Amino acid sequence: MNNDYNVGVYIRLSKEDSDKSLNRESESIKNQRKLIYNYLKENKLNLYKEYVDDGYTGTNFDRPGFNSLIKDIQDGKINMIITKDLSRLGRDYIKTGYYVEEYFPMKKVRYVSLLDGVDTYKNTNNNDIAPFKALFNDMVSKDTSKKIKSILKTKKERGLFLGSRAPYGYKKDPLNKNKLIIDEKTSKIVKKIFKLSLDGKSNQAIAEHLNKQGVSSPSNSEWSSSSVYNILNNKEYTGCLVSNVWTSISYKNKTRIKRSQSEWIIIHNTHEKIIDKKIFDLIKKKKNQKRKKTFKMKENLLLDGKIYCEDCGSKMGISYLKNRGYYVLNCNKYKKNAKKCFSHYIKYKDLENRFLEYIDTKEKLEDYKVYVNSNRKLRIVQIIDE
Ligand SMILES: [Zn+2]
Repeated sequence: MNNDYNVGVYIRLSKEDSDKSLNRESESIKNQRKLIYNYLKENKLNLYKEYVDDGYTGTNFDRPGFNSLIKDIQDGKINMIITKDLSRLGRDYIKTGYYVEEYFPMKKVRYVSLLDGVDTYKNTNNNDIAPFKALFNDMVSKDTSKKIKSILKTKKERGLFLGSRAPYGYKKDPLNKNKLIIDEKTSKIVKKIFKLSLDGKSNQAIAEHLNKQGVSSPSNSEWSSSSVYNILNNKEYTGCLVSNVWTSISYKNKTRIKRSQSEWIIIHNTHEKIIDKKIFDLIKKKKNQKRKKTFKMKENLLLDGKIYCEDCGSKMGISYLKNRGYYVLNCNKYKKNAKKCFSHYIKYKDLENRFLEYIDTKEKLEDYKVYVNSNRKLRIVQIIDE
């Protein structure tokens, strides 16, 4: 037995690697394990522990198995690491290079990548080639990411439903998981939501109505104005599939960003509609008009966005009372939930007049914040740049 080394075996398999359409079966965990254990046996090496990341991409190093391997290196439990090849360690060439050339040597850890012939304790040409292989692996994963994206795009263009969950109102066809069929129970709720909106009810009022009736929502929590908004804006109820809406920043950074509408893929007549397209468009048009109107009315208010609730600190919203012909203020927190704060009902114009008594000129208005408490007292704060 070679007692100089306590070996950590590192095995990684990502979803892309197990994708059969990309012919990567050779990367299977079983295969990696077989190769490495043969090597351990032949070299009479002492296995300390096996670290496995199943389903983790190599494009970053935030993986539970890898993190626990690093911890064991730091705790001095292992001083040798074996992987099947460099790409198992990682596909980001800068970070892979950092571990192989800097971190492992610094920690006096020997690293062996079997198929690349890399062994940091032997002087071999393969070690010199390692950085290039790491770069190559990085390029492969960029290419894989492109391939997967294009396979997905083709599927989307064929009008296949690819989501993990059907939109509220539909269910996946038990005979074809890429097809949506109507869910009898929830589709009635969808129809009701559109009808209430068409009758002029606000999203908030619709949500309250549904909660009162005990209707279960898409997220299984209570209905809110935003969940109603999502239903009213989901074009898929008109019988089409909308995809390609979201993307990630890059193959390394998976933060989701929304694509511009021109890039969305919309395929019509992919499933039975719940809502007539005319009604869908009509509601959208109405909502847009309403939004434009209120925006215009608020445009010239001097203190819009500068007024805060003294009691809870949240902003005060300004709304126009059509029948009275004036603007009023109210705490946004109170508006959402009356139990959370107090009514601060106050005429906007009164507040503005009182504010203007305090300051001489309108010039540097952006430097001010106005707080109002439940007794309608003002506290004016001037923000002074340091
Ligand atoms: Zn408040």
